Parts: sequence; C-alpha cells; structure tokens
Amino acid sequence: MQAFKKFMREANLIAGVWRGARSGKTFEVNNPATGEIIGTVPDADGEDTREAIAAAQEAFLSWRKTTAAQRAAIMRKLAAALEANKEDLARLLTTEQGKSLTEARAEISGSANYVLWFSEEARRIYGDTVPSPWSERRILVLKEPVGVVGAITPWNFPSLMLSRKIGAALAAGCTVVAKPASQTPYSALAWGLMAEEAGLPPGVINIVTGDARKIGKELTENPVVKKITFTGSTGVGKALVAQAAGTMKRVSMELGGNAPFIVFDDADIDAAVAGAIQSKFRNSGQTCVCVNRFLVQSGIHDAFVEKLGAAIAELKVGNGLEEGTDQGPLIDVKGVEKVEEHVVDAVGQGAHVVAGGRRHTLGGSFFEPTLIVGVTPSMKVAREETFGPVAAVFRFEREEEAIAMANDTEFGLAAYAYTRDLGRTFRVLEGLEYGQVGINAGVITTEVAPFGGVKESGMGSEGSKYGVEEYLNVKYGCIGIA
Ligand code: ADP
Repeated sequence: MQAFKKFMREANLIAGVWRGARSGKTFEVNNPATGEIIGTVPDADGEDTREAIAAAQEAFLSWRKTTAAQRAAIMRKLAAALEANKEDLARLLTTEQGKSLTEARAEISGSANYVLWFSEEARRIYGDTVPSPWSERRILVLKEPVGVVGAITPWNFPSLMLSRKIGAALAAGCTVVAKPASQTPYSALAWGLMAEEAGLPPGVINIVTGDARKIGKELTENPVVKKITFTGSTGVGKALVAQAAGTMKRVSMELGGNAPFIVFDDADIDAAVAGAIQSKFRNSGQTCVCVNRFLVQSGIHDAFVEKLGAAIAELKVGNGLEEGTDQGPLIDVKGVEKVEEHVVDAVGQGAHVVAGGRRHTLGGSFFEPTLIVGVTPSMKVAREETFGPVAAVFRFEREEEAIAMANDTEFGLAAYAYTRDLGRTFRVLEGLEYGQVGINAGVITTEVAPFGGVKESGMGSEGSKYGVEEYLNVKYGCIGIA
C-alpha cells in the first residue's frame, strides 16, 4: 500500500466523528493523470450539513472563550502536523488533483505557513480605546469572532485555499464547516486528521463532501452560519452572495480573474520570460492568478515571443507523481475542452500558434503547453479565463494603451508588469484596476500579504493582517463612569 493512503479518509468529519452521509450515498473520485477511480467519499446533503453547522455552533460557544495563546498553541501544532506529513499529503494531493509533486509539496508547506502566520496574528487581534467626547463616559472598540463560518473551496489548490480560511477563522475564534470541491475531497478530509493530531476540540472544524447545491444552500441560508467564505468561479460566487443576503451574512469572495502580464520595451527580457513561465504554467495554468493575457510592447515583442517559445519547449508534461514533471494533466476533460475551444476560436479569428495548440499525445486531460500570437480583444482567450496552459500574446505600442487594455475586463484579481523604469512602475501600479499587482515578479502570493480582487473578482482579503479582520465583528462599548 502506498504510504499516503493512510491519509485518505472516506468519511466526513462532523462533531469530531468520522461518518458517512445520512443517505448512505457516496461518489467516486478519480486520478486525472490516469483516469483511475481512487476511492469514494460521502455524498452529503443539506441534512448532513445542518448537523455539521449545529456541531460548529456548539463548539463555537467554548472555542470563542479560549485565550489567544491557547488558540495559537493548537494552531502551531496544526501547522507542524501539515509540515511533518508533507510528503504523504503532497502525494495524495497530486493523485487527486494532477499537479506536479514539486508544486504539491510547495502547496502543503504554503498551507502550514498560512496556519503559522495566523497563529501569530491570533495574539495581535487588538481593539481600541477612543478618546471620548464625554468626560463621564469611556469608549471601547472590541473585536469579536463572527461565529460559525461556511467555507467553500475549489479543486485547484485543495489544501492552500482551506488554510487561508481555516487559519484566519481559528485565529479569530470562529468555527468552520468546510465543503471542498468534489474533484479533490481527500486533501480537505486530511485536514480533519491534522486537526485531530493537533488536538483541536471536536466540532471546531467540520468537513462535508457532496452535493454542492444542497450543501451550499444550507450553508448560505442557515441563520446559525454568520459568514460565507468562497473561492471559485464568479458565477457561483454571485449565486452564493445572493443566497447569503437572505440572512445578511458576512461574505468573502475570491473569484475568477483575467490577469494581464505587460512586458514593456525596457523590461529585463530573461526575467520577464522566467516570470511568465511561472505565472502562466503553474498548476497547468489552472490558478485564478495565472496570466491570461500577455501584452507585449512592439519593440520587444518578437524577442520575447522567441524566448518564451524556447522556454515552453522545455516544459516536461507527464504524471505529476513522476519526478521532473513540470506540467501535469488538467483537472478533467471539460477543462481541456474549454482550452481547446479558446485556441480554435483564436486561430479562427487570425491568431497564429507558435507552440503546442493541441491535446497532448499522453491522452486523457493532458494538453500541450501552448503559445499563440496575434491575439485581439474579440477572441475568447482575451475575454474569458482560459484556465489552462495557453500563453496568448497581444502586441501594443504605448503605455496608456497597455493599461487601458489590461483594465478592459470585468475582472480585477491579479496583474503583472515588467519594466525597469521607476516612474512607469508607479504609473502602472496605480493605473491597474486590480487587487494585486506584481512588478518584475510573476508569482507574488504569500501568507503575509493580502490576497483578493476587485470588480467581479470578488471582495475581501485572505492572508495577512487584513485576512483576520474578515472573521471579526467590531463592537462599540460605551461605558458611563459617573
Ligand atoms: P470551478 O470552475 O473552479 O470548479 P466552481 O465555482 O464551480 O469553480 O466550484 C468551486 C466550489 O464551489 C466547489 O467546491 C464547488 O463544488 C462549489 N460549488 C459549485 N456550485 C455551487 C453551488 N451552486 N452552491 C455552492 N457551492 C457550489
């Protein structure tokens, strides 16, 4: 038996008990690299979710009263458990998700880093005393945990996306009902094992797998839940916000992107190519901050395309479990179909394929790392999130034109630019309507900085000191002392 299988829980964690769905139903999970069924997990519904919410509320009554130091101590153990089991958790992640082992290991370490960071922040949740306009009254501002949190996460970072939500929630004194994506439930269920190892009290973290609509409906409509935190598509995010409005829940939404990557004539071209490869092809192009549009200035365009093409040719495609693999399969054939549709549409409208462009000979959901040039705004690759390994290159002449093109989308999650001009750096940073901007940096995510978008990419921040605020209510206390 492969060692990581001991972390493959085929049950949900509710009130500290591992159990199946009340209906007895299950669903299958497959390995995207081989198509093999790797196991089955509970197909939970609204009733199971209701029980998980009740357990989280019960646990909240005592968890909220723990001291920050007590919560921080348990969270340090949780981070240590993730790090100690990194190799097995990474193999489990690659097996259900497809990404390379190198990326999976980095994801588990990243998850531990988020929990550790939030364990430190737990001890720095300060309120305020405010100078009072009344001599006989004092004014206090208290920070209090919002309560039970419903956390819905996607398949592209099945561990990391949970760490940002669970870490912040625990630090604030909240309890959680988590619903992972059905493609990747095992990495989330393994968090239950880590929570047990860390000594988290039963009910503080509950994990339900199953019917997204039914679980989502219960989480958004049950009045006991006080906050919904979601990472996923803009369409589902909008539906969840609408559902959560009925009980006026707090919401954090980390939704889709359409990231531009602007390369100016004065850029360090080799640095730009290295940043482009990391930012575009990480996780086979399936991250919400992956570059979707390369905007390249005329003077450097051909040289950049040539070097990027050469770097793409070096990428090794294969099963993520094989050492040396750079790019694994996409999550499923539906993902491949979308990528293919974008390429065909672009070519049909006059774009030119420089590298790749087709399904990979490995079959299944593998797709060739692809480079297309001559992209124009009317093409699907320009307007929609491709979520796959396709680098689509536009050409531009002037700086203002590039900023306008970059902002010409309803999304506003992440943007990148390469330039060595200081004035331009600031003009571009300030001009881009995005929640995160990397200048001369292709991968910028870290637990110490706020991650989040503007426009239809969502609202709220994850990670950093701002990430904890999302899980806290502000209470004003006015105390008469006469
Ligand atoms: P993706 O395109 O990345 O799969 P989704 O937004 O469809 O993004 O999925 C992200 C998460 O939202 C997953 O856990 C998925 O099961 C969940 N989800 C999808 N539809 C709904 C829904 N109607 N209500 C609640 N959760 C949903």
